[in-house]
Amino acid sequence: MEDNVVFQTYALGKAYKKFKALDAVDMTVYEGDIYGFVGENGAGKTTLIRLACGLIHPSSGDYSIFGVSSRQDGIIEARRKTAAIVEAVALCRSLNALENLKLHAKLVGVIKSDEELNEILNNVGLDAKAIEKKKVGNFSLGMRQRLGIAIALLSNPKFVILDEPMNGLDPQGFIDVRETILRLNKQGVTFLISSHILSELDKICTRVGFLSHGQLVKEISFDELHQIARKKISLRIKDADNVAILLKDHFNLKEIKIDGDFITIYDTLDVNELLKYIFSKGLNIESITSNEETIEDFYQQLIKGGAR
Ligand code: ATP
Repeated sequence: MEDNVVFQTYALGKAYKKFKALDAVDMTVYEGDIYGFVGENGAGKTTLIRLACGLIHPSSGDYSIFGVSSRQDGIIEARRKTAAIVEAVALCRSLNALENLKLHAKLVGVIKSDEELNEILNNVGLDAKAIEKKKVGNFSLGMRQRLGIAIALLSNPKFVILDEPMNGLDPQGFIDVRETILRLNKQGVTFLISSHILSELDKICTRVGFLSHGQLVKEISFDELHQIARKKISLRIKDADNVAILLKDHFNLKEIKIDGDFITIYDTLDVNELLKYIFSKGLNIESITSNEETIEDFYQQLIKGGAR
C-alpha cells in the first residue's frame, strides 16, 4: 500500500438483513485530498461514514485508516488521528462558542488553554472576540456547523470526515463552511465529505466518488470532473475530413473528432463564429448541435447507469 493513503476500503460491504446498503466498495482517500463522496438519498453515504468511524462493523470486506486495517489493534491509535461529524454535534444553546468548545474538550479529555481554543475558533472562521457575548442558540446554521468542525479539531486530527456538512446552509453559511474546509486542508487536514448535491462539492474537491445504490460507480479527479463540463459542438457536413482540417487550423482547436459525416469539436468556440466561417467557405452544413454537458448531467447519467 502507498504511504500517502489515509483511508481505503477493500470490497467493503454492509448488509441489513438481506439488504445491501453498501456493496463491495473500493475507494481510496489520499493525504491532502478533499474527497467528495456524492450520492442520492439512501445511496449508502452515512453507512460508509459510520463504518469508517467504527460505529458499525462491515458485513464483508474491510477498510484501513492510515494503513491500519479495521481488524488490527492499531486501529484505535489510527482513529485518534481522525475526527468525524456524523450527525449534528450536540451544542449547548445557552453557552457561547468558547464555553461549548471547553465543554467538549473536557468530555474528550483534551487539555487546552483559552488562547488555544480561541485559535481553533478563529481557524474555522468564528471570530472568537466578536462572538464572545453571543449564545450558540443565536448562531446561524453555518456558524453552528463551523463550531462543530472546531469541536472535531480539538484532537488535532489529520483526517476529518463530515457527513453532509452543507445541508440546509444559506449561501453565506455555505461559503463560510467551504472556506473553512479549504483553509484546514491547506494546513494539512485530509477530508472525506459526503453530500447528495454534487455542486456543493465540485469546487473544492480534489477527487469525487459517486455512490449509487450502495455501489461506488465512479471515482474521478477534480481535473477530470471539470473536463466533463466542457462545451461540445457537433456538426454534420460533407467532406468532414477536410473541413475538420480547415476548422482546426482556423480556430486553433485542440480537440476535434471525426466520425463519418460528423465532426465533434470540444471547445468554448462561439457557434455563430463557426457558422460564419463555414458559410464564408461556401460549405453547406446538414445539421449542427451545441451543448454544454454540466457536471450535474454527468452525475445524473452515472446514477442512472449505476442503478441496480
Ligand atoms: P441520506 O442522504 O438519505 O442520509 P445515505 O446515502 O446516507 O442517505 P444511508 O443512511 O447510508 O444512506 O442508508 C443506505 C440504505 O441503508 C438506505 O436504504 C437505508 O434505509 C438503509 N439503512 C441504513 N441504516 C439501516 C439500518 N440500521 N437498518 C436497516 N436499513 C438501514
